[in-house]
Amino acid sequence: GTGLGLPLDGAKVPAATNSSLGGTKAHSLVFEALQNRVNSVNQDVCEAGDENSFFVCDLGELQRLYAHWHAKLPRVHPFYAVKSNPNPKVLESLSSMGVNFDCASKSEIEMVLKMGVNPARIIYANPCKASSFIRFAKNREVQKSTFDNVEELAKIKKHHPESELLLRIATDDSTAKCRLSTKYGCAMENVDQLLARVKEMGLNMVGVSFHIGSGASDFSTFYKAVRDAREVFDRARNSFGFSNVHILDVGGGFHLDTFDESSHTLNLALDEFFPPTDNVTLIAEPGRFFAASPFTLACHVIAKRAHNDKESMLYINDGVYGNMNCILFDHQEPVPKVLYHDQKFHYWEDQPSTSSVKIPHCPLKVSIWGPTCDGLDCVTQEYFFRHDMVVGDWLYFTALGAYTSSAATQFNGFEQAVDVIYINSASEL
Ligand code: PLP
Repeated sequence: GTGLGLPLDGAKVPAATNSSLGGTKAHSLVFEALQNRVNSVNQDVCEAGDENSFFVCDLGELQRLYAHWHAKLPRVHPFYAVKSNPNPKVLESLSSMGVNFDCASKSEIEMVLKMGVNPARIIYANPCKASSFIRFAKNREVQKSTFDNVEELAKIKKHHPESELLLRIATDDSTAKCRLSTKYGCAMENVDQLLARVKEMGLNMVGVSFHIGSGASDFSTFYKAVRDAREVFDRARNSFGFSNVHILDVGGGFHLDTFDESSHTLNLALDEFFPPTDNVTLIAEPGRFFAASPFTLACHVIAKRAHNDKESMLYINDGVYGNMNCILFDHQEPVPKVLYHDQKFHYWEDQPSTSSVKIPHCPLKVSIWGPTCDGLDCVTQEYFFRHDMVVGDWLYFTALGAYTSSAATQFNGFEQAVDVIYINSASEL
């Protein structure tokens, strides 16, 4: 039943996430791809798993994201953080646009090199690497890498002495949802000591890197980090005589939602501390900025437990051990949307507006659960829909490409949803 007239008073509805840069036309192409796929599955007769969750990936969105990045941060060259989503078509598409790569491990380096990418376009941005991986990087001529401790320098001296080194400094990431400086980064008071060891060992110091953490609400941390980086540049050049220090790597943590603000603050800091006349090469390691919005995840309702006609539990075939591991590992709150249809399976949008908060009448309260037998496998505790859902219906989640498929497990014997339907809205608009 529609519009039962119950107000949403006091109901907890998750805030809408960013959708995409594509506008309604691109969105309707994604929606069409969802419908076509869903219509092709007859759950009454299909093979086991034919109704598995799947992604629609809009490669046109990647092109728009790159143009947007270039417009807002024209001085900063992106090295895509492969860990956020190593989908081969995404990597190829970014590579063809001229985006470079941040790799965290041997297999990420291998994946990127297999596409024919020049190793000079890779930064091995992991400050704590296994010795064998350092040798691997040397063999594959991957020169650029980050470090933040003396032990790492000793391994690099032994296994890859020509390596081009960026010193990673700690940042104030206290407002970030995903904090990284608790694990990595040299504190400013220890920088001199570390630079002295680089000098002693005769290693090739080329720059400074940092990461402000992800999901930051206060971007003044960018300003402080860039200011600190300037300090390290000056000490390296003036106190230690490193003449080849020329790269500043501003890391990741960029979200499409907050990109106007973060890029603005970053530009102010860069113009103050690293003006164009300095000829410093500026790079970044964005992951989620590129990986999130091109992907929409669709999931099938496999079971339902109705408590009464207003409250029920829905069980879907993807969850916290699958693509929605981002709930636990990345502090994301995926926002479910319903693929509503009539008797003849004509589909319509759940919500005309992107903000679920604006839905006036959502009387049906649901909790949504993943398919494993673990009680932790909960996608959302409390959500409100306008219409009732039944087994066989589909839900979808927009902007769910970052830190989802890249960390999915096969726990309970469920396959990872690797099925991806590709569209390119940029070529069709
Ligand atoms: N660079 C490094 C060293 C990281 O650890 C990460 C994320 O963990 C990234 C880049 C990408 O961050 P984001 O996806 O938030 O842009």
